Amino acid sequence: LADRDGVIWYDGKLVPWRDATTHVLTHTLHYGMGVFEGVRAYETPKGTAIFRLQDHTERLLNSAKIFQMKIPFTAEELNEAQKTVVRENGLKSCYLRPLSFIGSEKLGIAATNNTIHTVVAAWPWGAYLGAEGLEKGIRVKTSSFTRHHVNVSMVRAKACGYYINSILAHQEAAADGYDEALVLDTEGYASEGAGENLFVVKKGKLYTPDVASCLDGITRNTVLTLAREEGIEVIEKRITRDEIYTADEAFFTGTAAEVTPIRELDNRPIGAGIRGPVTARLQQRYFDCVQGRDPKHEDWLTLV
Ligand code: PMP
Repeated sequence: LADRDGVIWYDGKLVPWRDATTHVLTHTLHYGMGVFEGVRAYETPKGTAIFRLQDHTERLLNSAKIFQMKIPFTAEELNEAQKTVVRENGLKSCYLRPLSFIGSEKLGIAATNNTIHTVVAAWPWGAYLGAEGLEKGIRVKTSSFTRHHVNVSMVRAKACGYYINSILAHQEAAADGYDEALVLDTEGYASEGAGENLFVVKKGKLYTPDVASCLDGITRNTVLTLAREEGIEVIEKRITRDEIYTADEAFFTGTAAEVTPIRELDNRPIGAGIRGPVTARLQQRYFDCVQGRDPKHEDWLTLV
């Protein structure tokens, strides 16, 4: 990914892709305290648009606030940076990665006053859990790794170091032949996927874990809004593994994963073991929104 043409926004300037580097003594590289976003832009009838740009930027700034990292750019400047990167790289649809990290002035956990750097890169990235996964659903395994506890990490932040936990969970699931991991919280309730929020459908109602130990996902929020519009009752509560085994449908949501049906958890087919009707409906509504086919939600789109 480092060796390609294009430009990356780096602390307010567009730099050639291959020159967007940092020193090996960069603080974040050593201790993992950095914050980032995953954002997508889609082709719409009116042109390429970034989905829920303001919300992603706001979450980035809040993540930084949690760690007392002072990003020296305003939300408007960061929004503009993201639009610029899509435009300047001539991308029609893409994934965007804004990231803020702590500079290399000093190492050690006591280092203060290091500079805070921000980059935005964008490149094409197809269906994260596979095009077939979007249609047929994926196979998921409950992880032996536990999700962050609220007093170990602060999961309102989307932070670099937290993803060690996600990588461990995903590695384990993938090595055992599954598509993705389901991670439980410290009390054994379902929290989320390695990089996705979880939803379950039972008797026409939609359930999702409350955001105690999982990321407050923007796709999760989108799906909750769309479900309410569809007249589906939505319940945010703790969910157990066996509730998922016996559910009618289940799916993951995420900017990268979009709306991906779960057809199996721990070798138990969920419902009919295919993408269920409620999942299909919400998935369709989601793609209509991101691809600019839903006039009601045009406010979620920012043309680049
Ligand atoms: N949980 C985790 C751990 C994630 O990394 C992501 C992806 N950002 C999500 C949930 C989904 O969040 P969003 O819908 O905002 O992309």
